[in-house]
Amino acid sequence: MNNKTILVTSPLLPDLDEFNQLLHEIWDSKWVTNNGTFHKQLEQALCEYLKVPYISIFTNGTLPLITALQALRVTGEVITTPYSFVATTHALWWNGIRPVFTDIDPATGGLDPERIEEAITPRTTAIMPVHVYGKPCRTAEIQAIADKYGLKVIYDAAHAFGVEVNGESVLKEGDLSTLSFHATKVYNTLEGGALVMHDEKMKQRIDRLKNFGFAGETEVVAPGINSKMDEVRAAYGLLNLRQVDAAIEARHQVAVSYRAALRDVEGITFWDDMPGVRHNYSYFPIFIDADRYGMTRDELYFKMREQGILGRRYFYPLISEFSTYRGLPSAHPDNLPQATRMANSVICLPMHHELTEADINRIIQAIVK
Ligand SMILES: *Cc1c(COP(=O)(O)O)cnc(C)c1O
Repeated sequence: MNNKTILVTSPLLPDLDEFNQLLHEIWDSKWVTNNGTFHKQLEQALCEYLKVPYISIFTNGTLPLITALQALRVTGEVITTPYSFVATTHALWWNGIRPVFTDIDPATGGLDPERIEEAITPRTTAIMPVHVYGKPCRTAEIQAIADKYGLKVIYDAAHAFGVEVNGESVLKEGDLSTLSFHATKVYNTLEGGALVMHDEKMKQRIDRLKNFGFAGETEVVAPGINSKMDEVRAAYGLLNLRQVDAAIEARHQVAVSYRAALRDVEGITFWDDMPGVRHNYSYFPIFIDADRYGMTRDELYFKMREQGILGRRYFYPLISEFSTYRGLPSAHPDNLPQATRMANSVICLPMHHELTEADINRIIQAIVK
């Protein structure tokens, strides 16, 4: 038996010779950061690829979240999901904002619009949903609530690179959307991220905020941070953009294989593609009903590990379970029944562009008894 460890993901890497060529260009120019040629080219190329009007690229995917809240001057309380990577809520904390957790819709994994209104108080200024696993939230309903109460909407779209609904980028939803280009994501620049915005004025504001607040050589208009992307990673990102479609298609085929093999397994559920949505297959979560499957989620998780198959329990524990946030009234599990149930039943199966048929069969064998 082949015992090679199968990791949950594998970074999409550009061709090393091509990358070297671009490195030569950077070395020759001696322009290594601060809105250089590759930085500009990557922003342009991403706008075209993602079909969005404006984008500002960042040094990672967490600073865009923090900067989005700054740019929209969000304060007080923000309604958000506990079912995400911890950076979503940390961004609120770094702005001195109180997170208010509301429950998720089990059909999308994102915030349940029907639970949002009851969480609004006079201090609420924004909603921060997550398109978890790249599955679009119920954006129209969320926007209707935001409009009714005059709230901003910032989407953590770290998982939603390239996701479209009826031919439109999901990144155009809300006031701002954030992306992560971390090595573990569908599209990566090693570390990196971005903010997607609707107009040039907001782009200018955000470009300043990511560069200490500088507006020209001698003027500083806001207490900005330094979160610029350098030329090396922008060049890397340009090369990776050329192969991301092929990587997404390879992931799609992995999803097709998983679904075919697991559809009739008692006690295992998963999502199918949503009609009209271009998915990016960033993750393949399965949910285990212990009674029907005959094994708990953790028993299956550790059994897979013993066989060298490293799934991940994304997103367990819930963000609301971490010590920083556990004391908040909204963090109580009674307030978050669906999120709690999902967190306790999920395993994300290995999902990346290099999984072989043999890998996939080994993973399926471990699950199908
Ligand atoms: C990866 C991720 C982030 C943070 O991105 P980094 O690039 O790692 O800083 C934020 N939110 C979600 C949902 C993520 O998965």
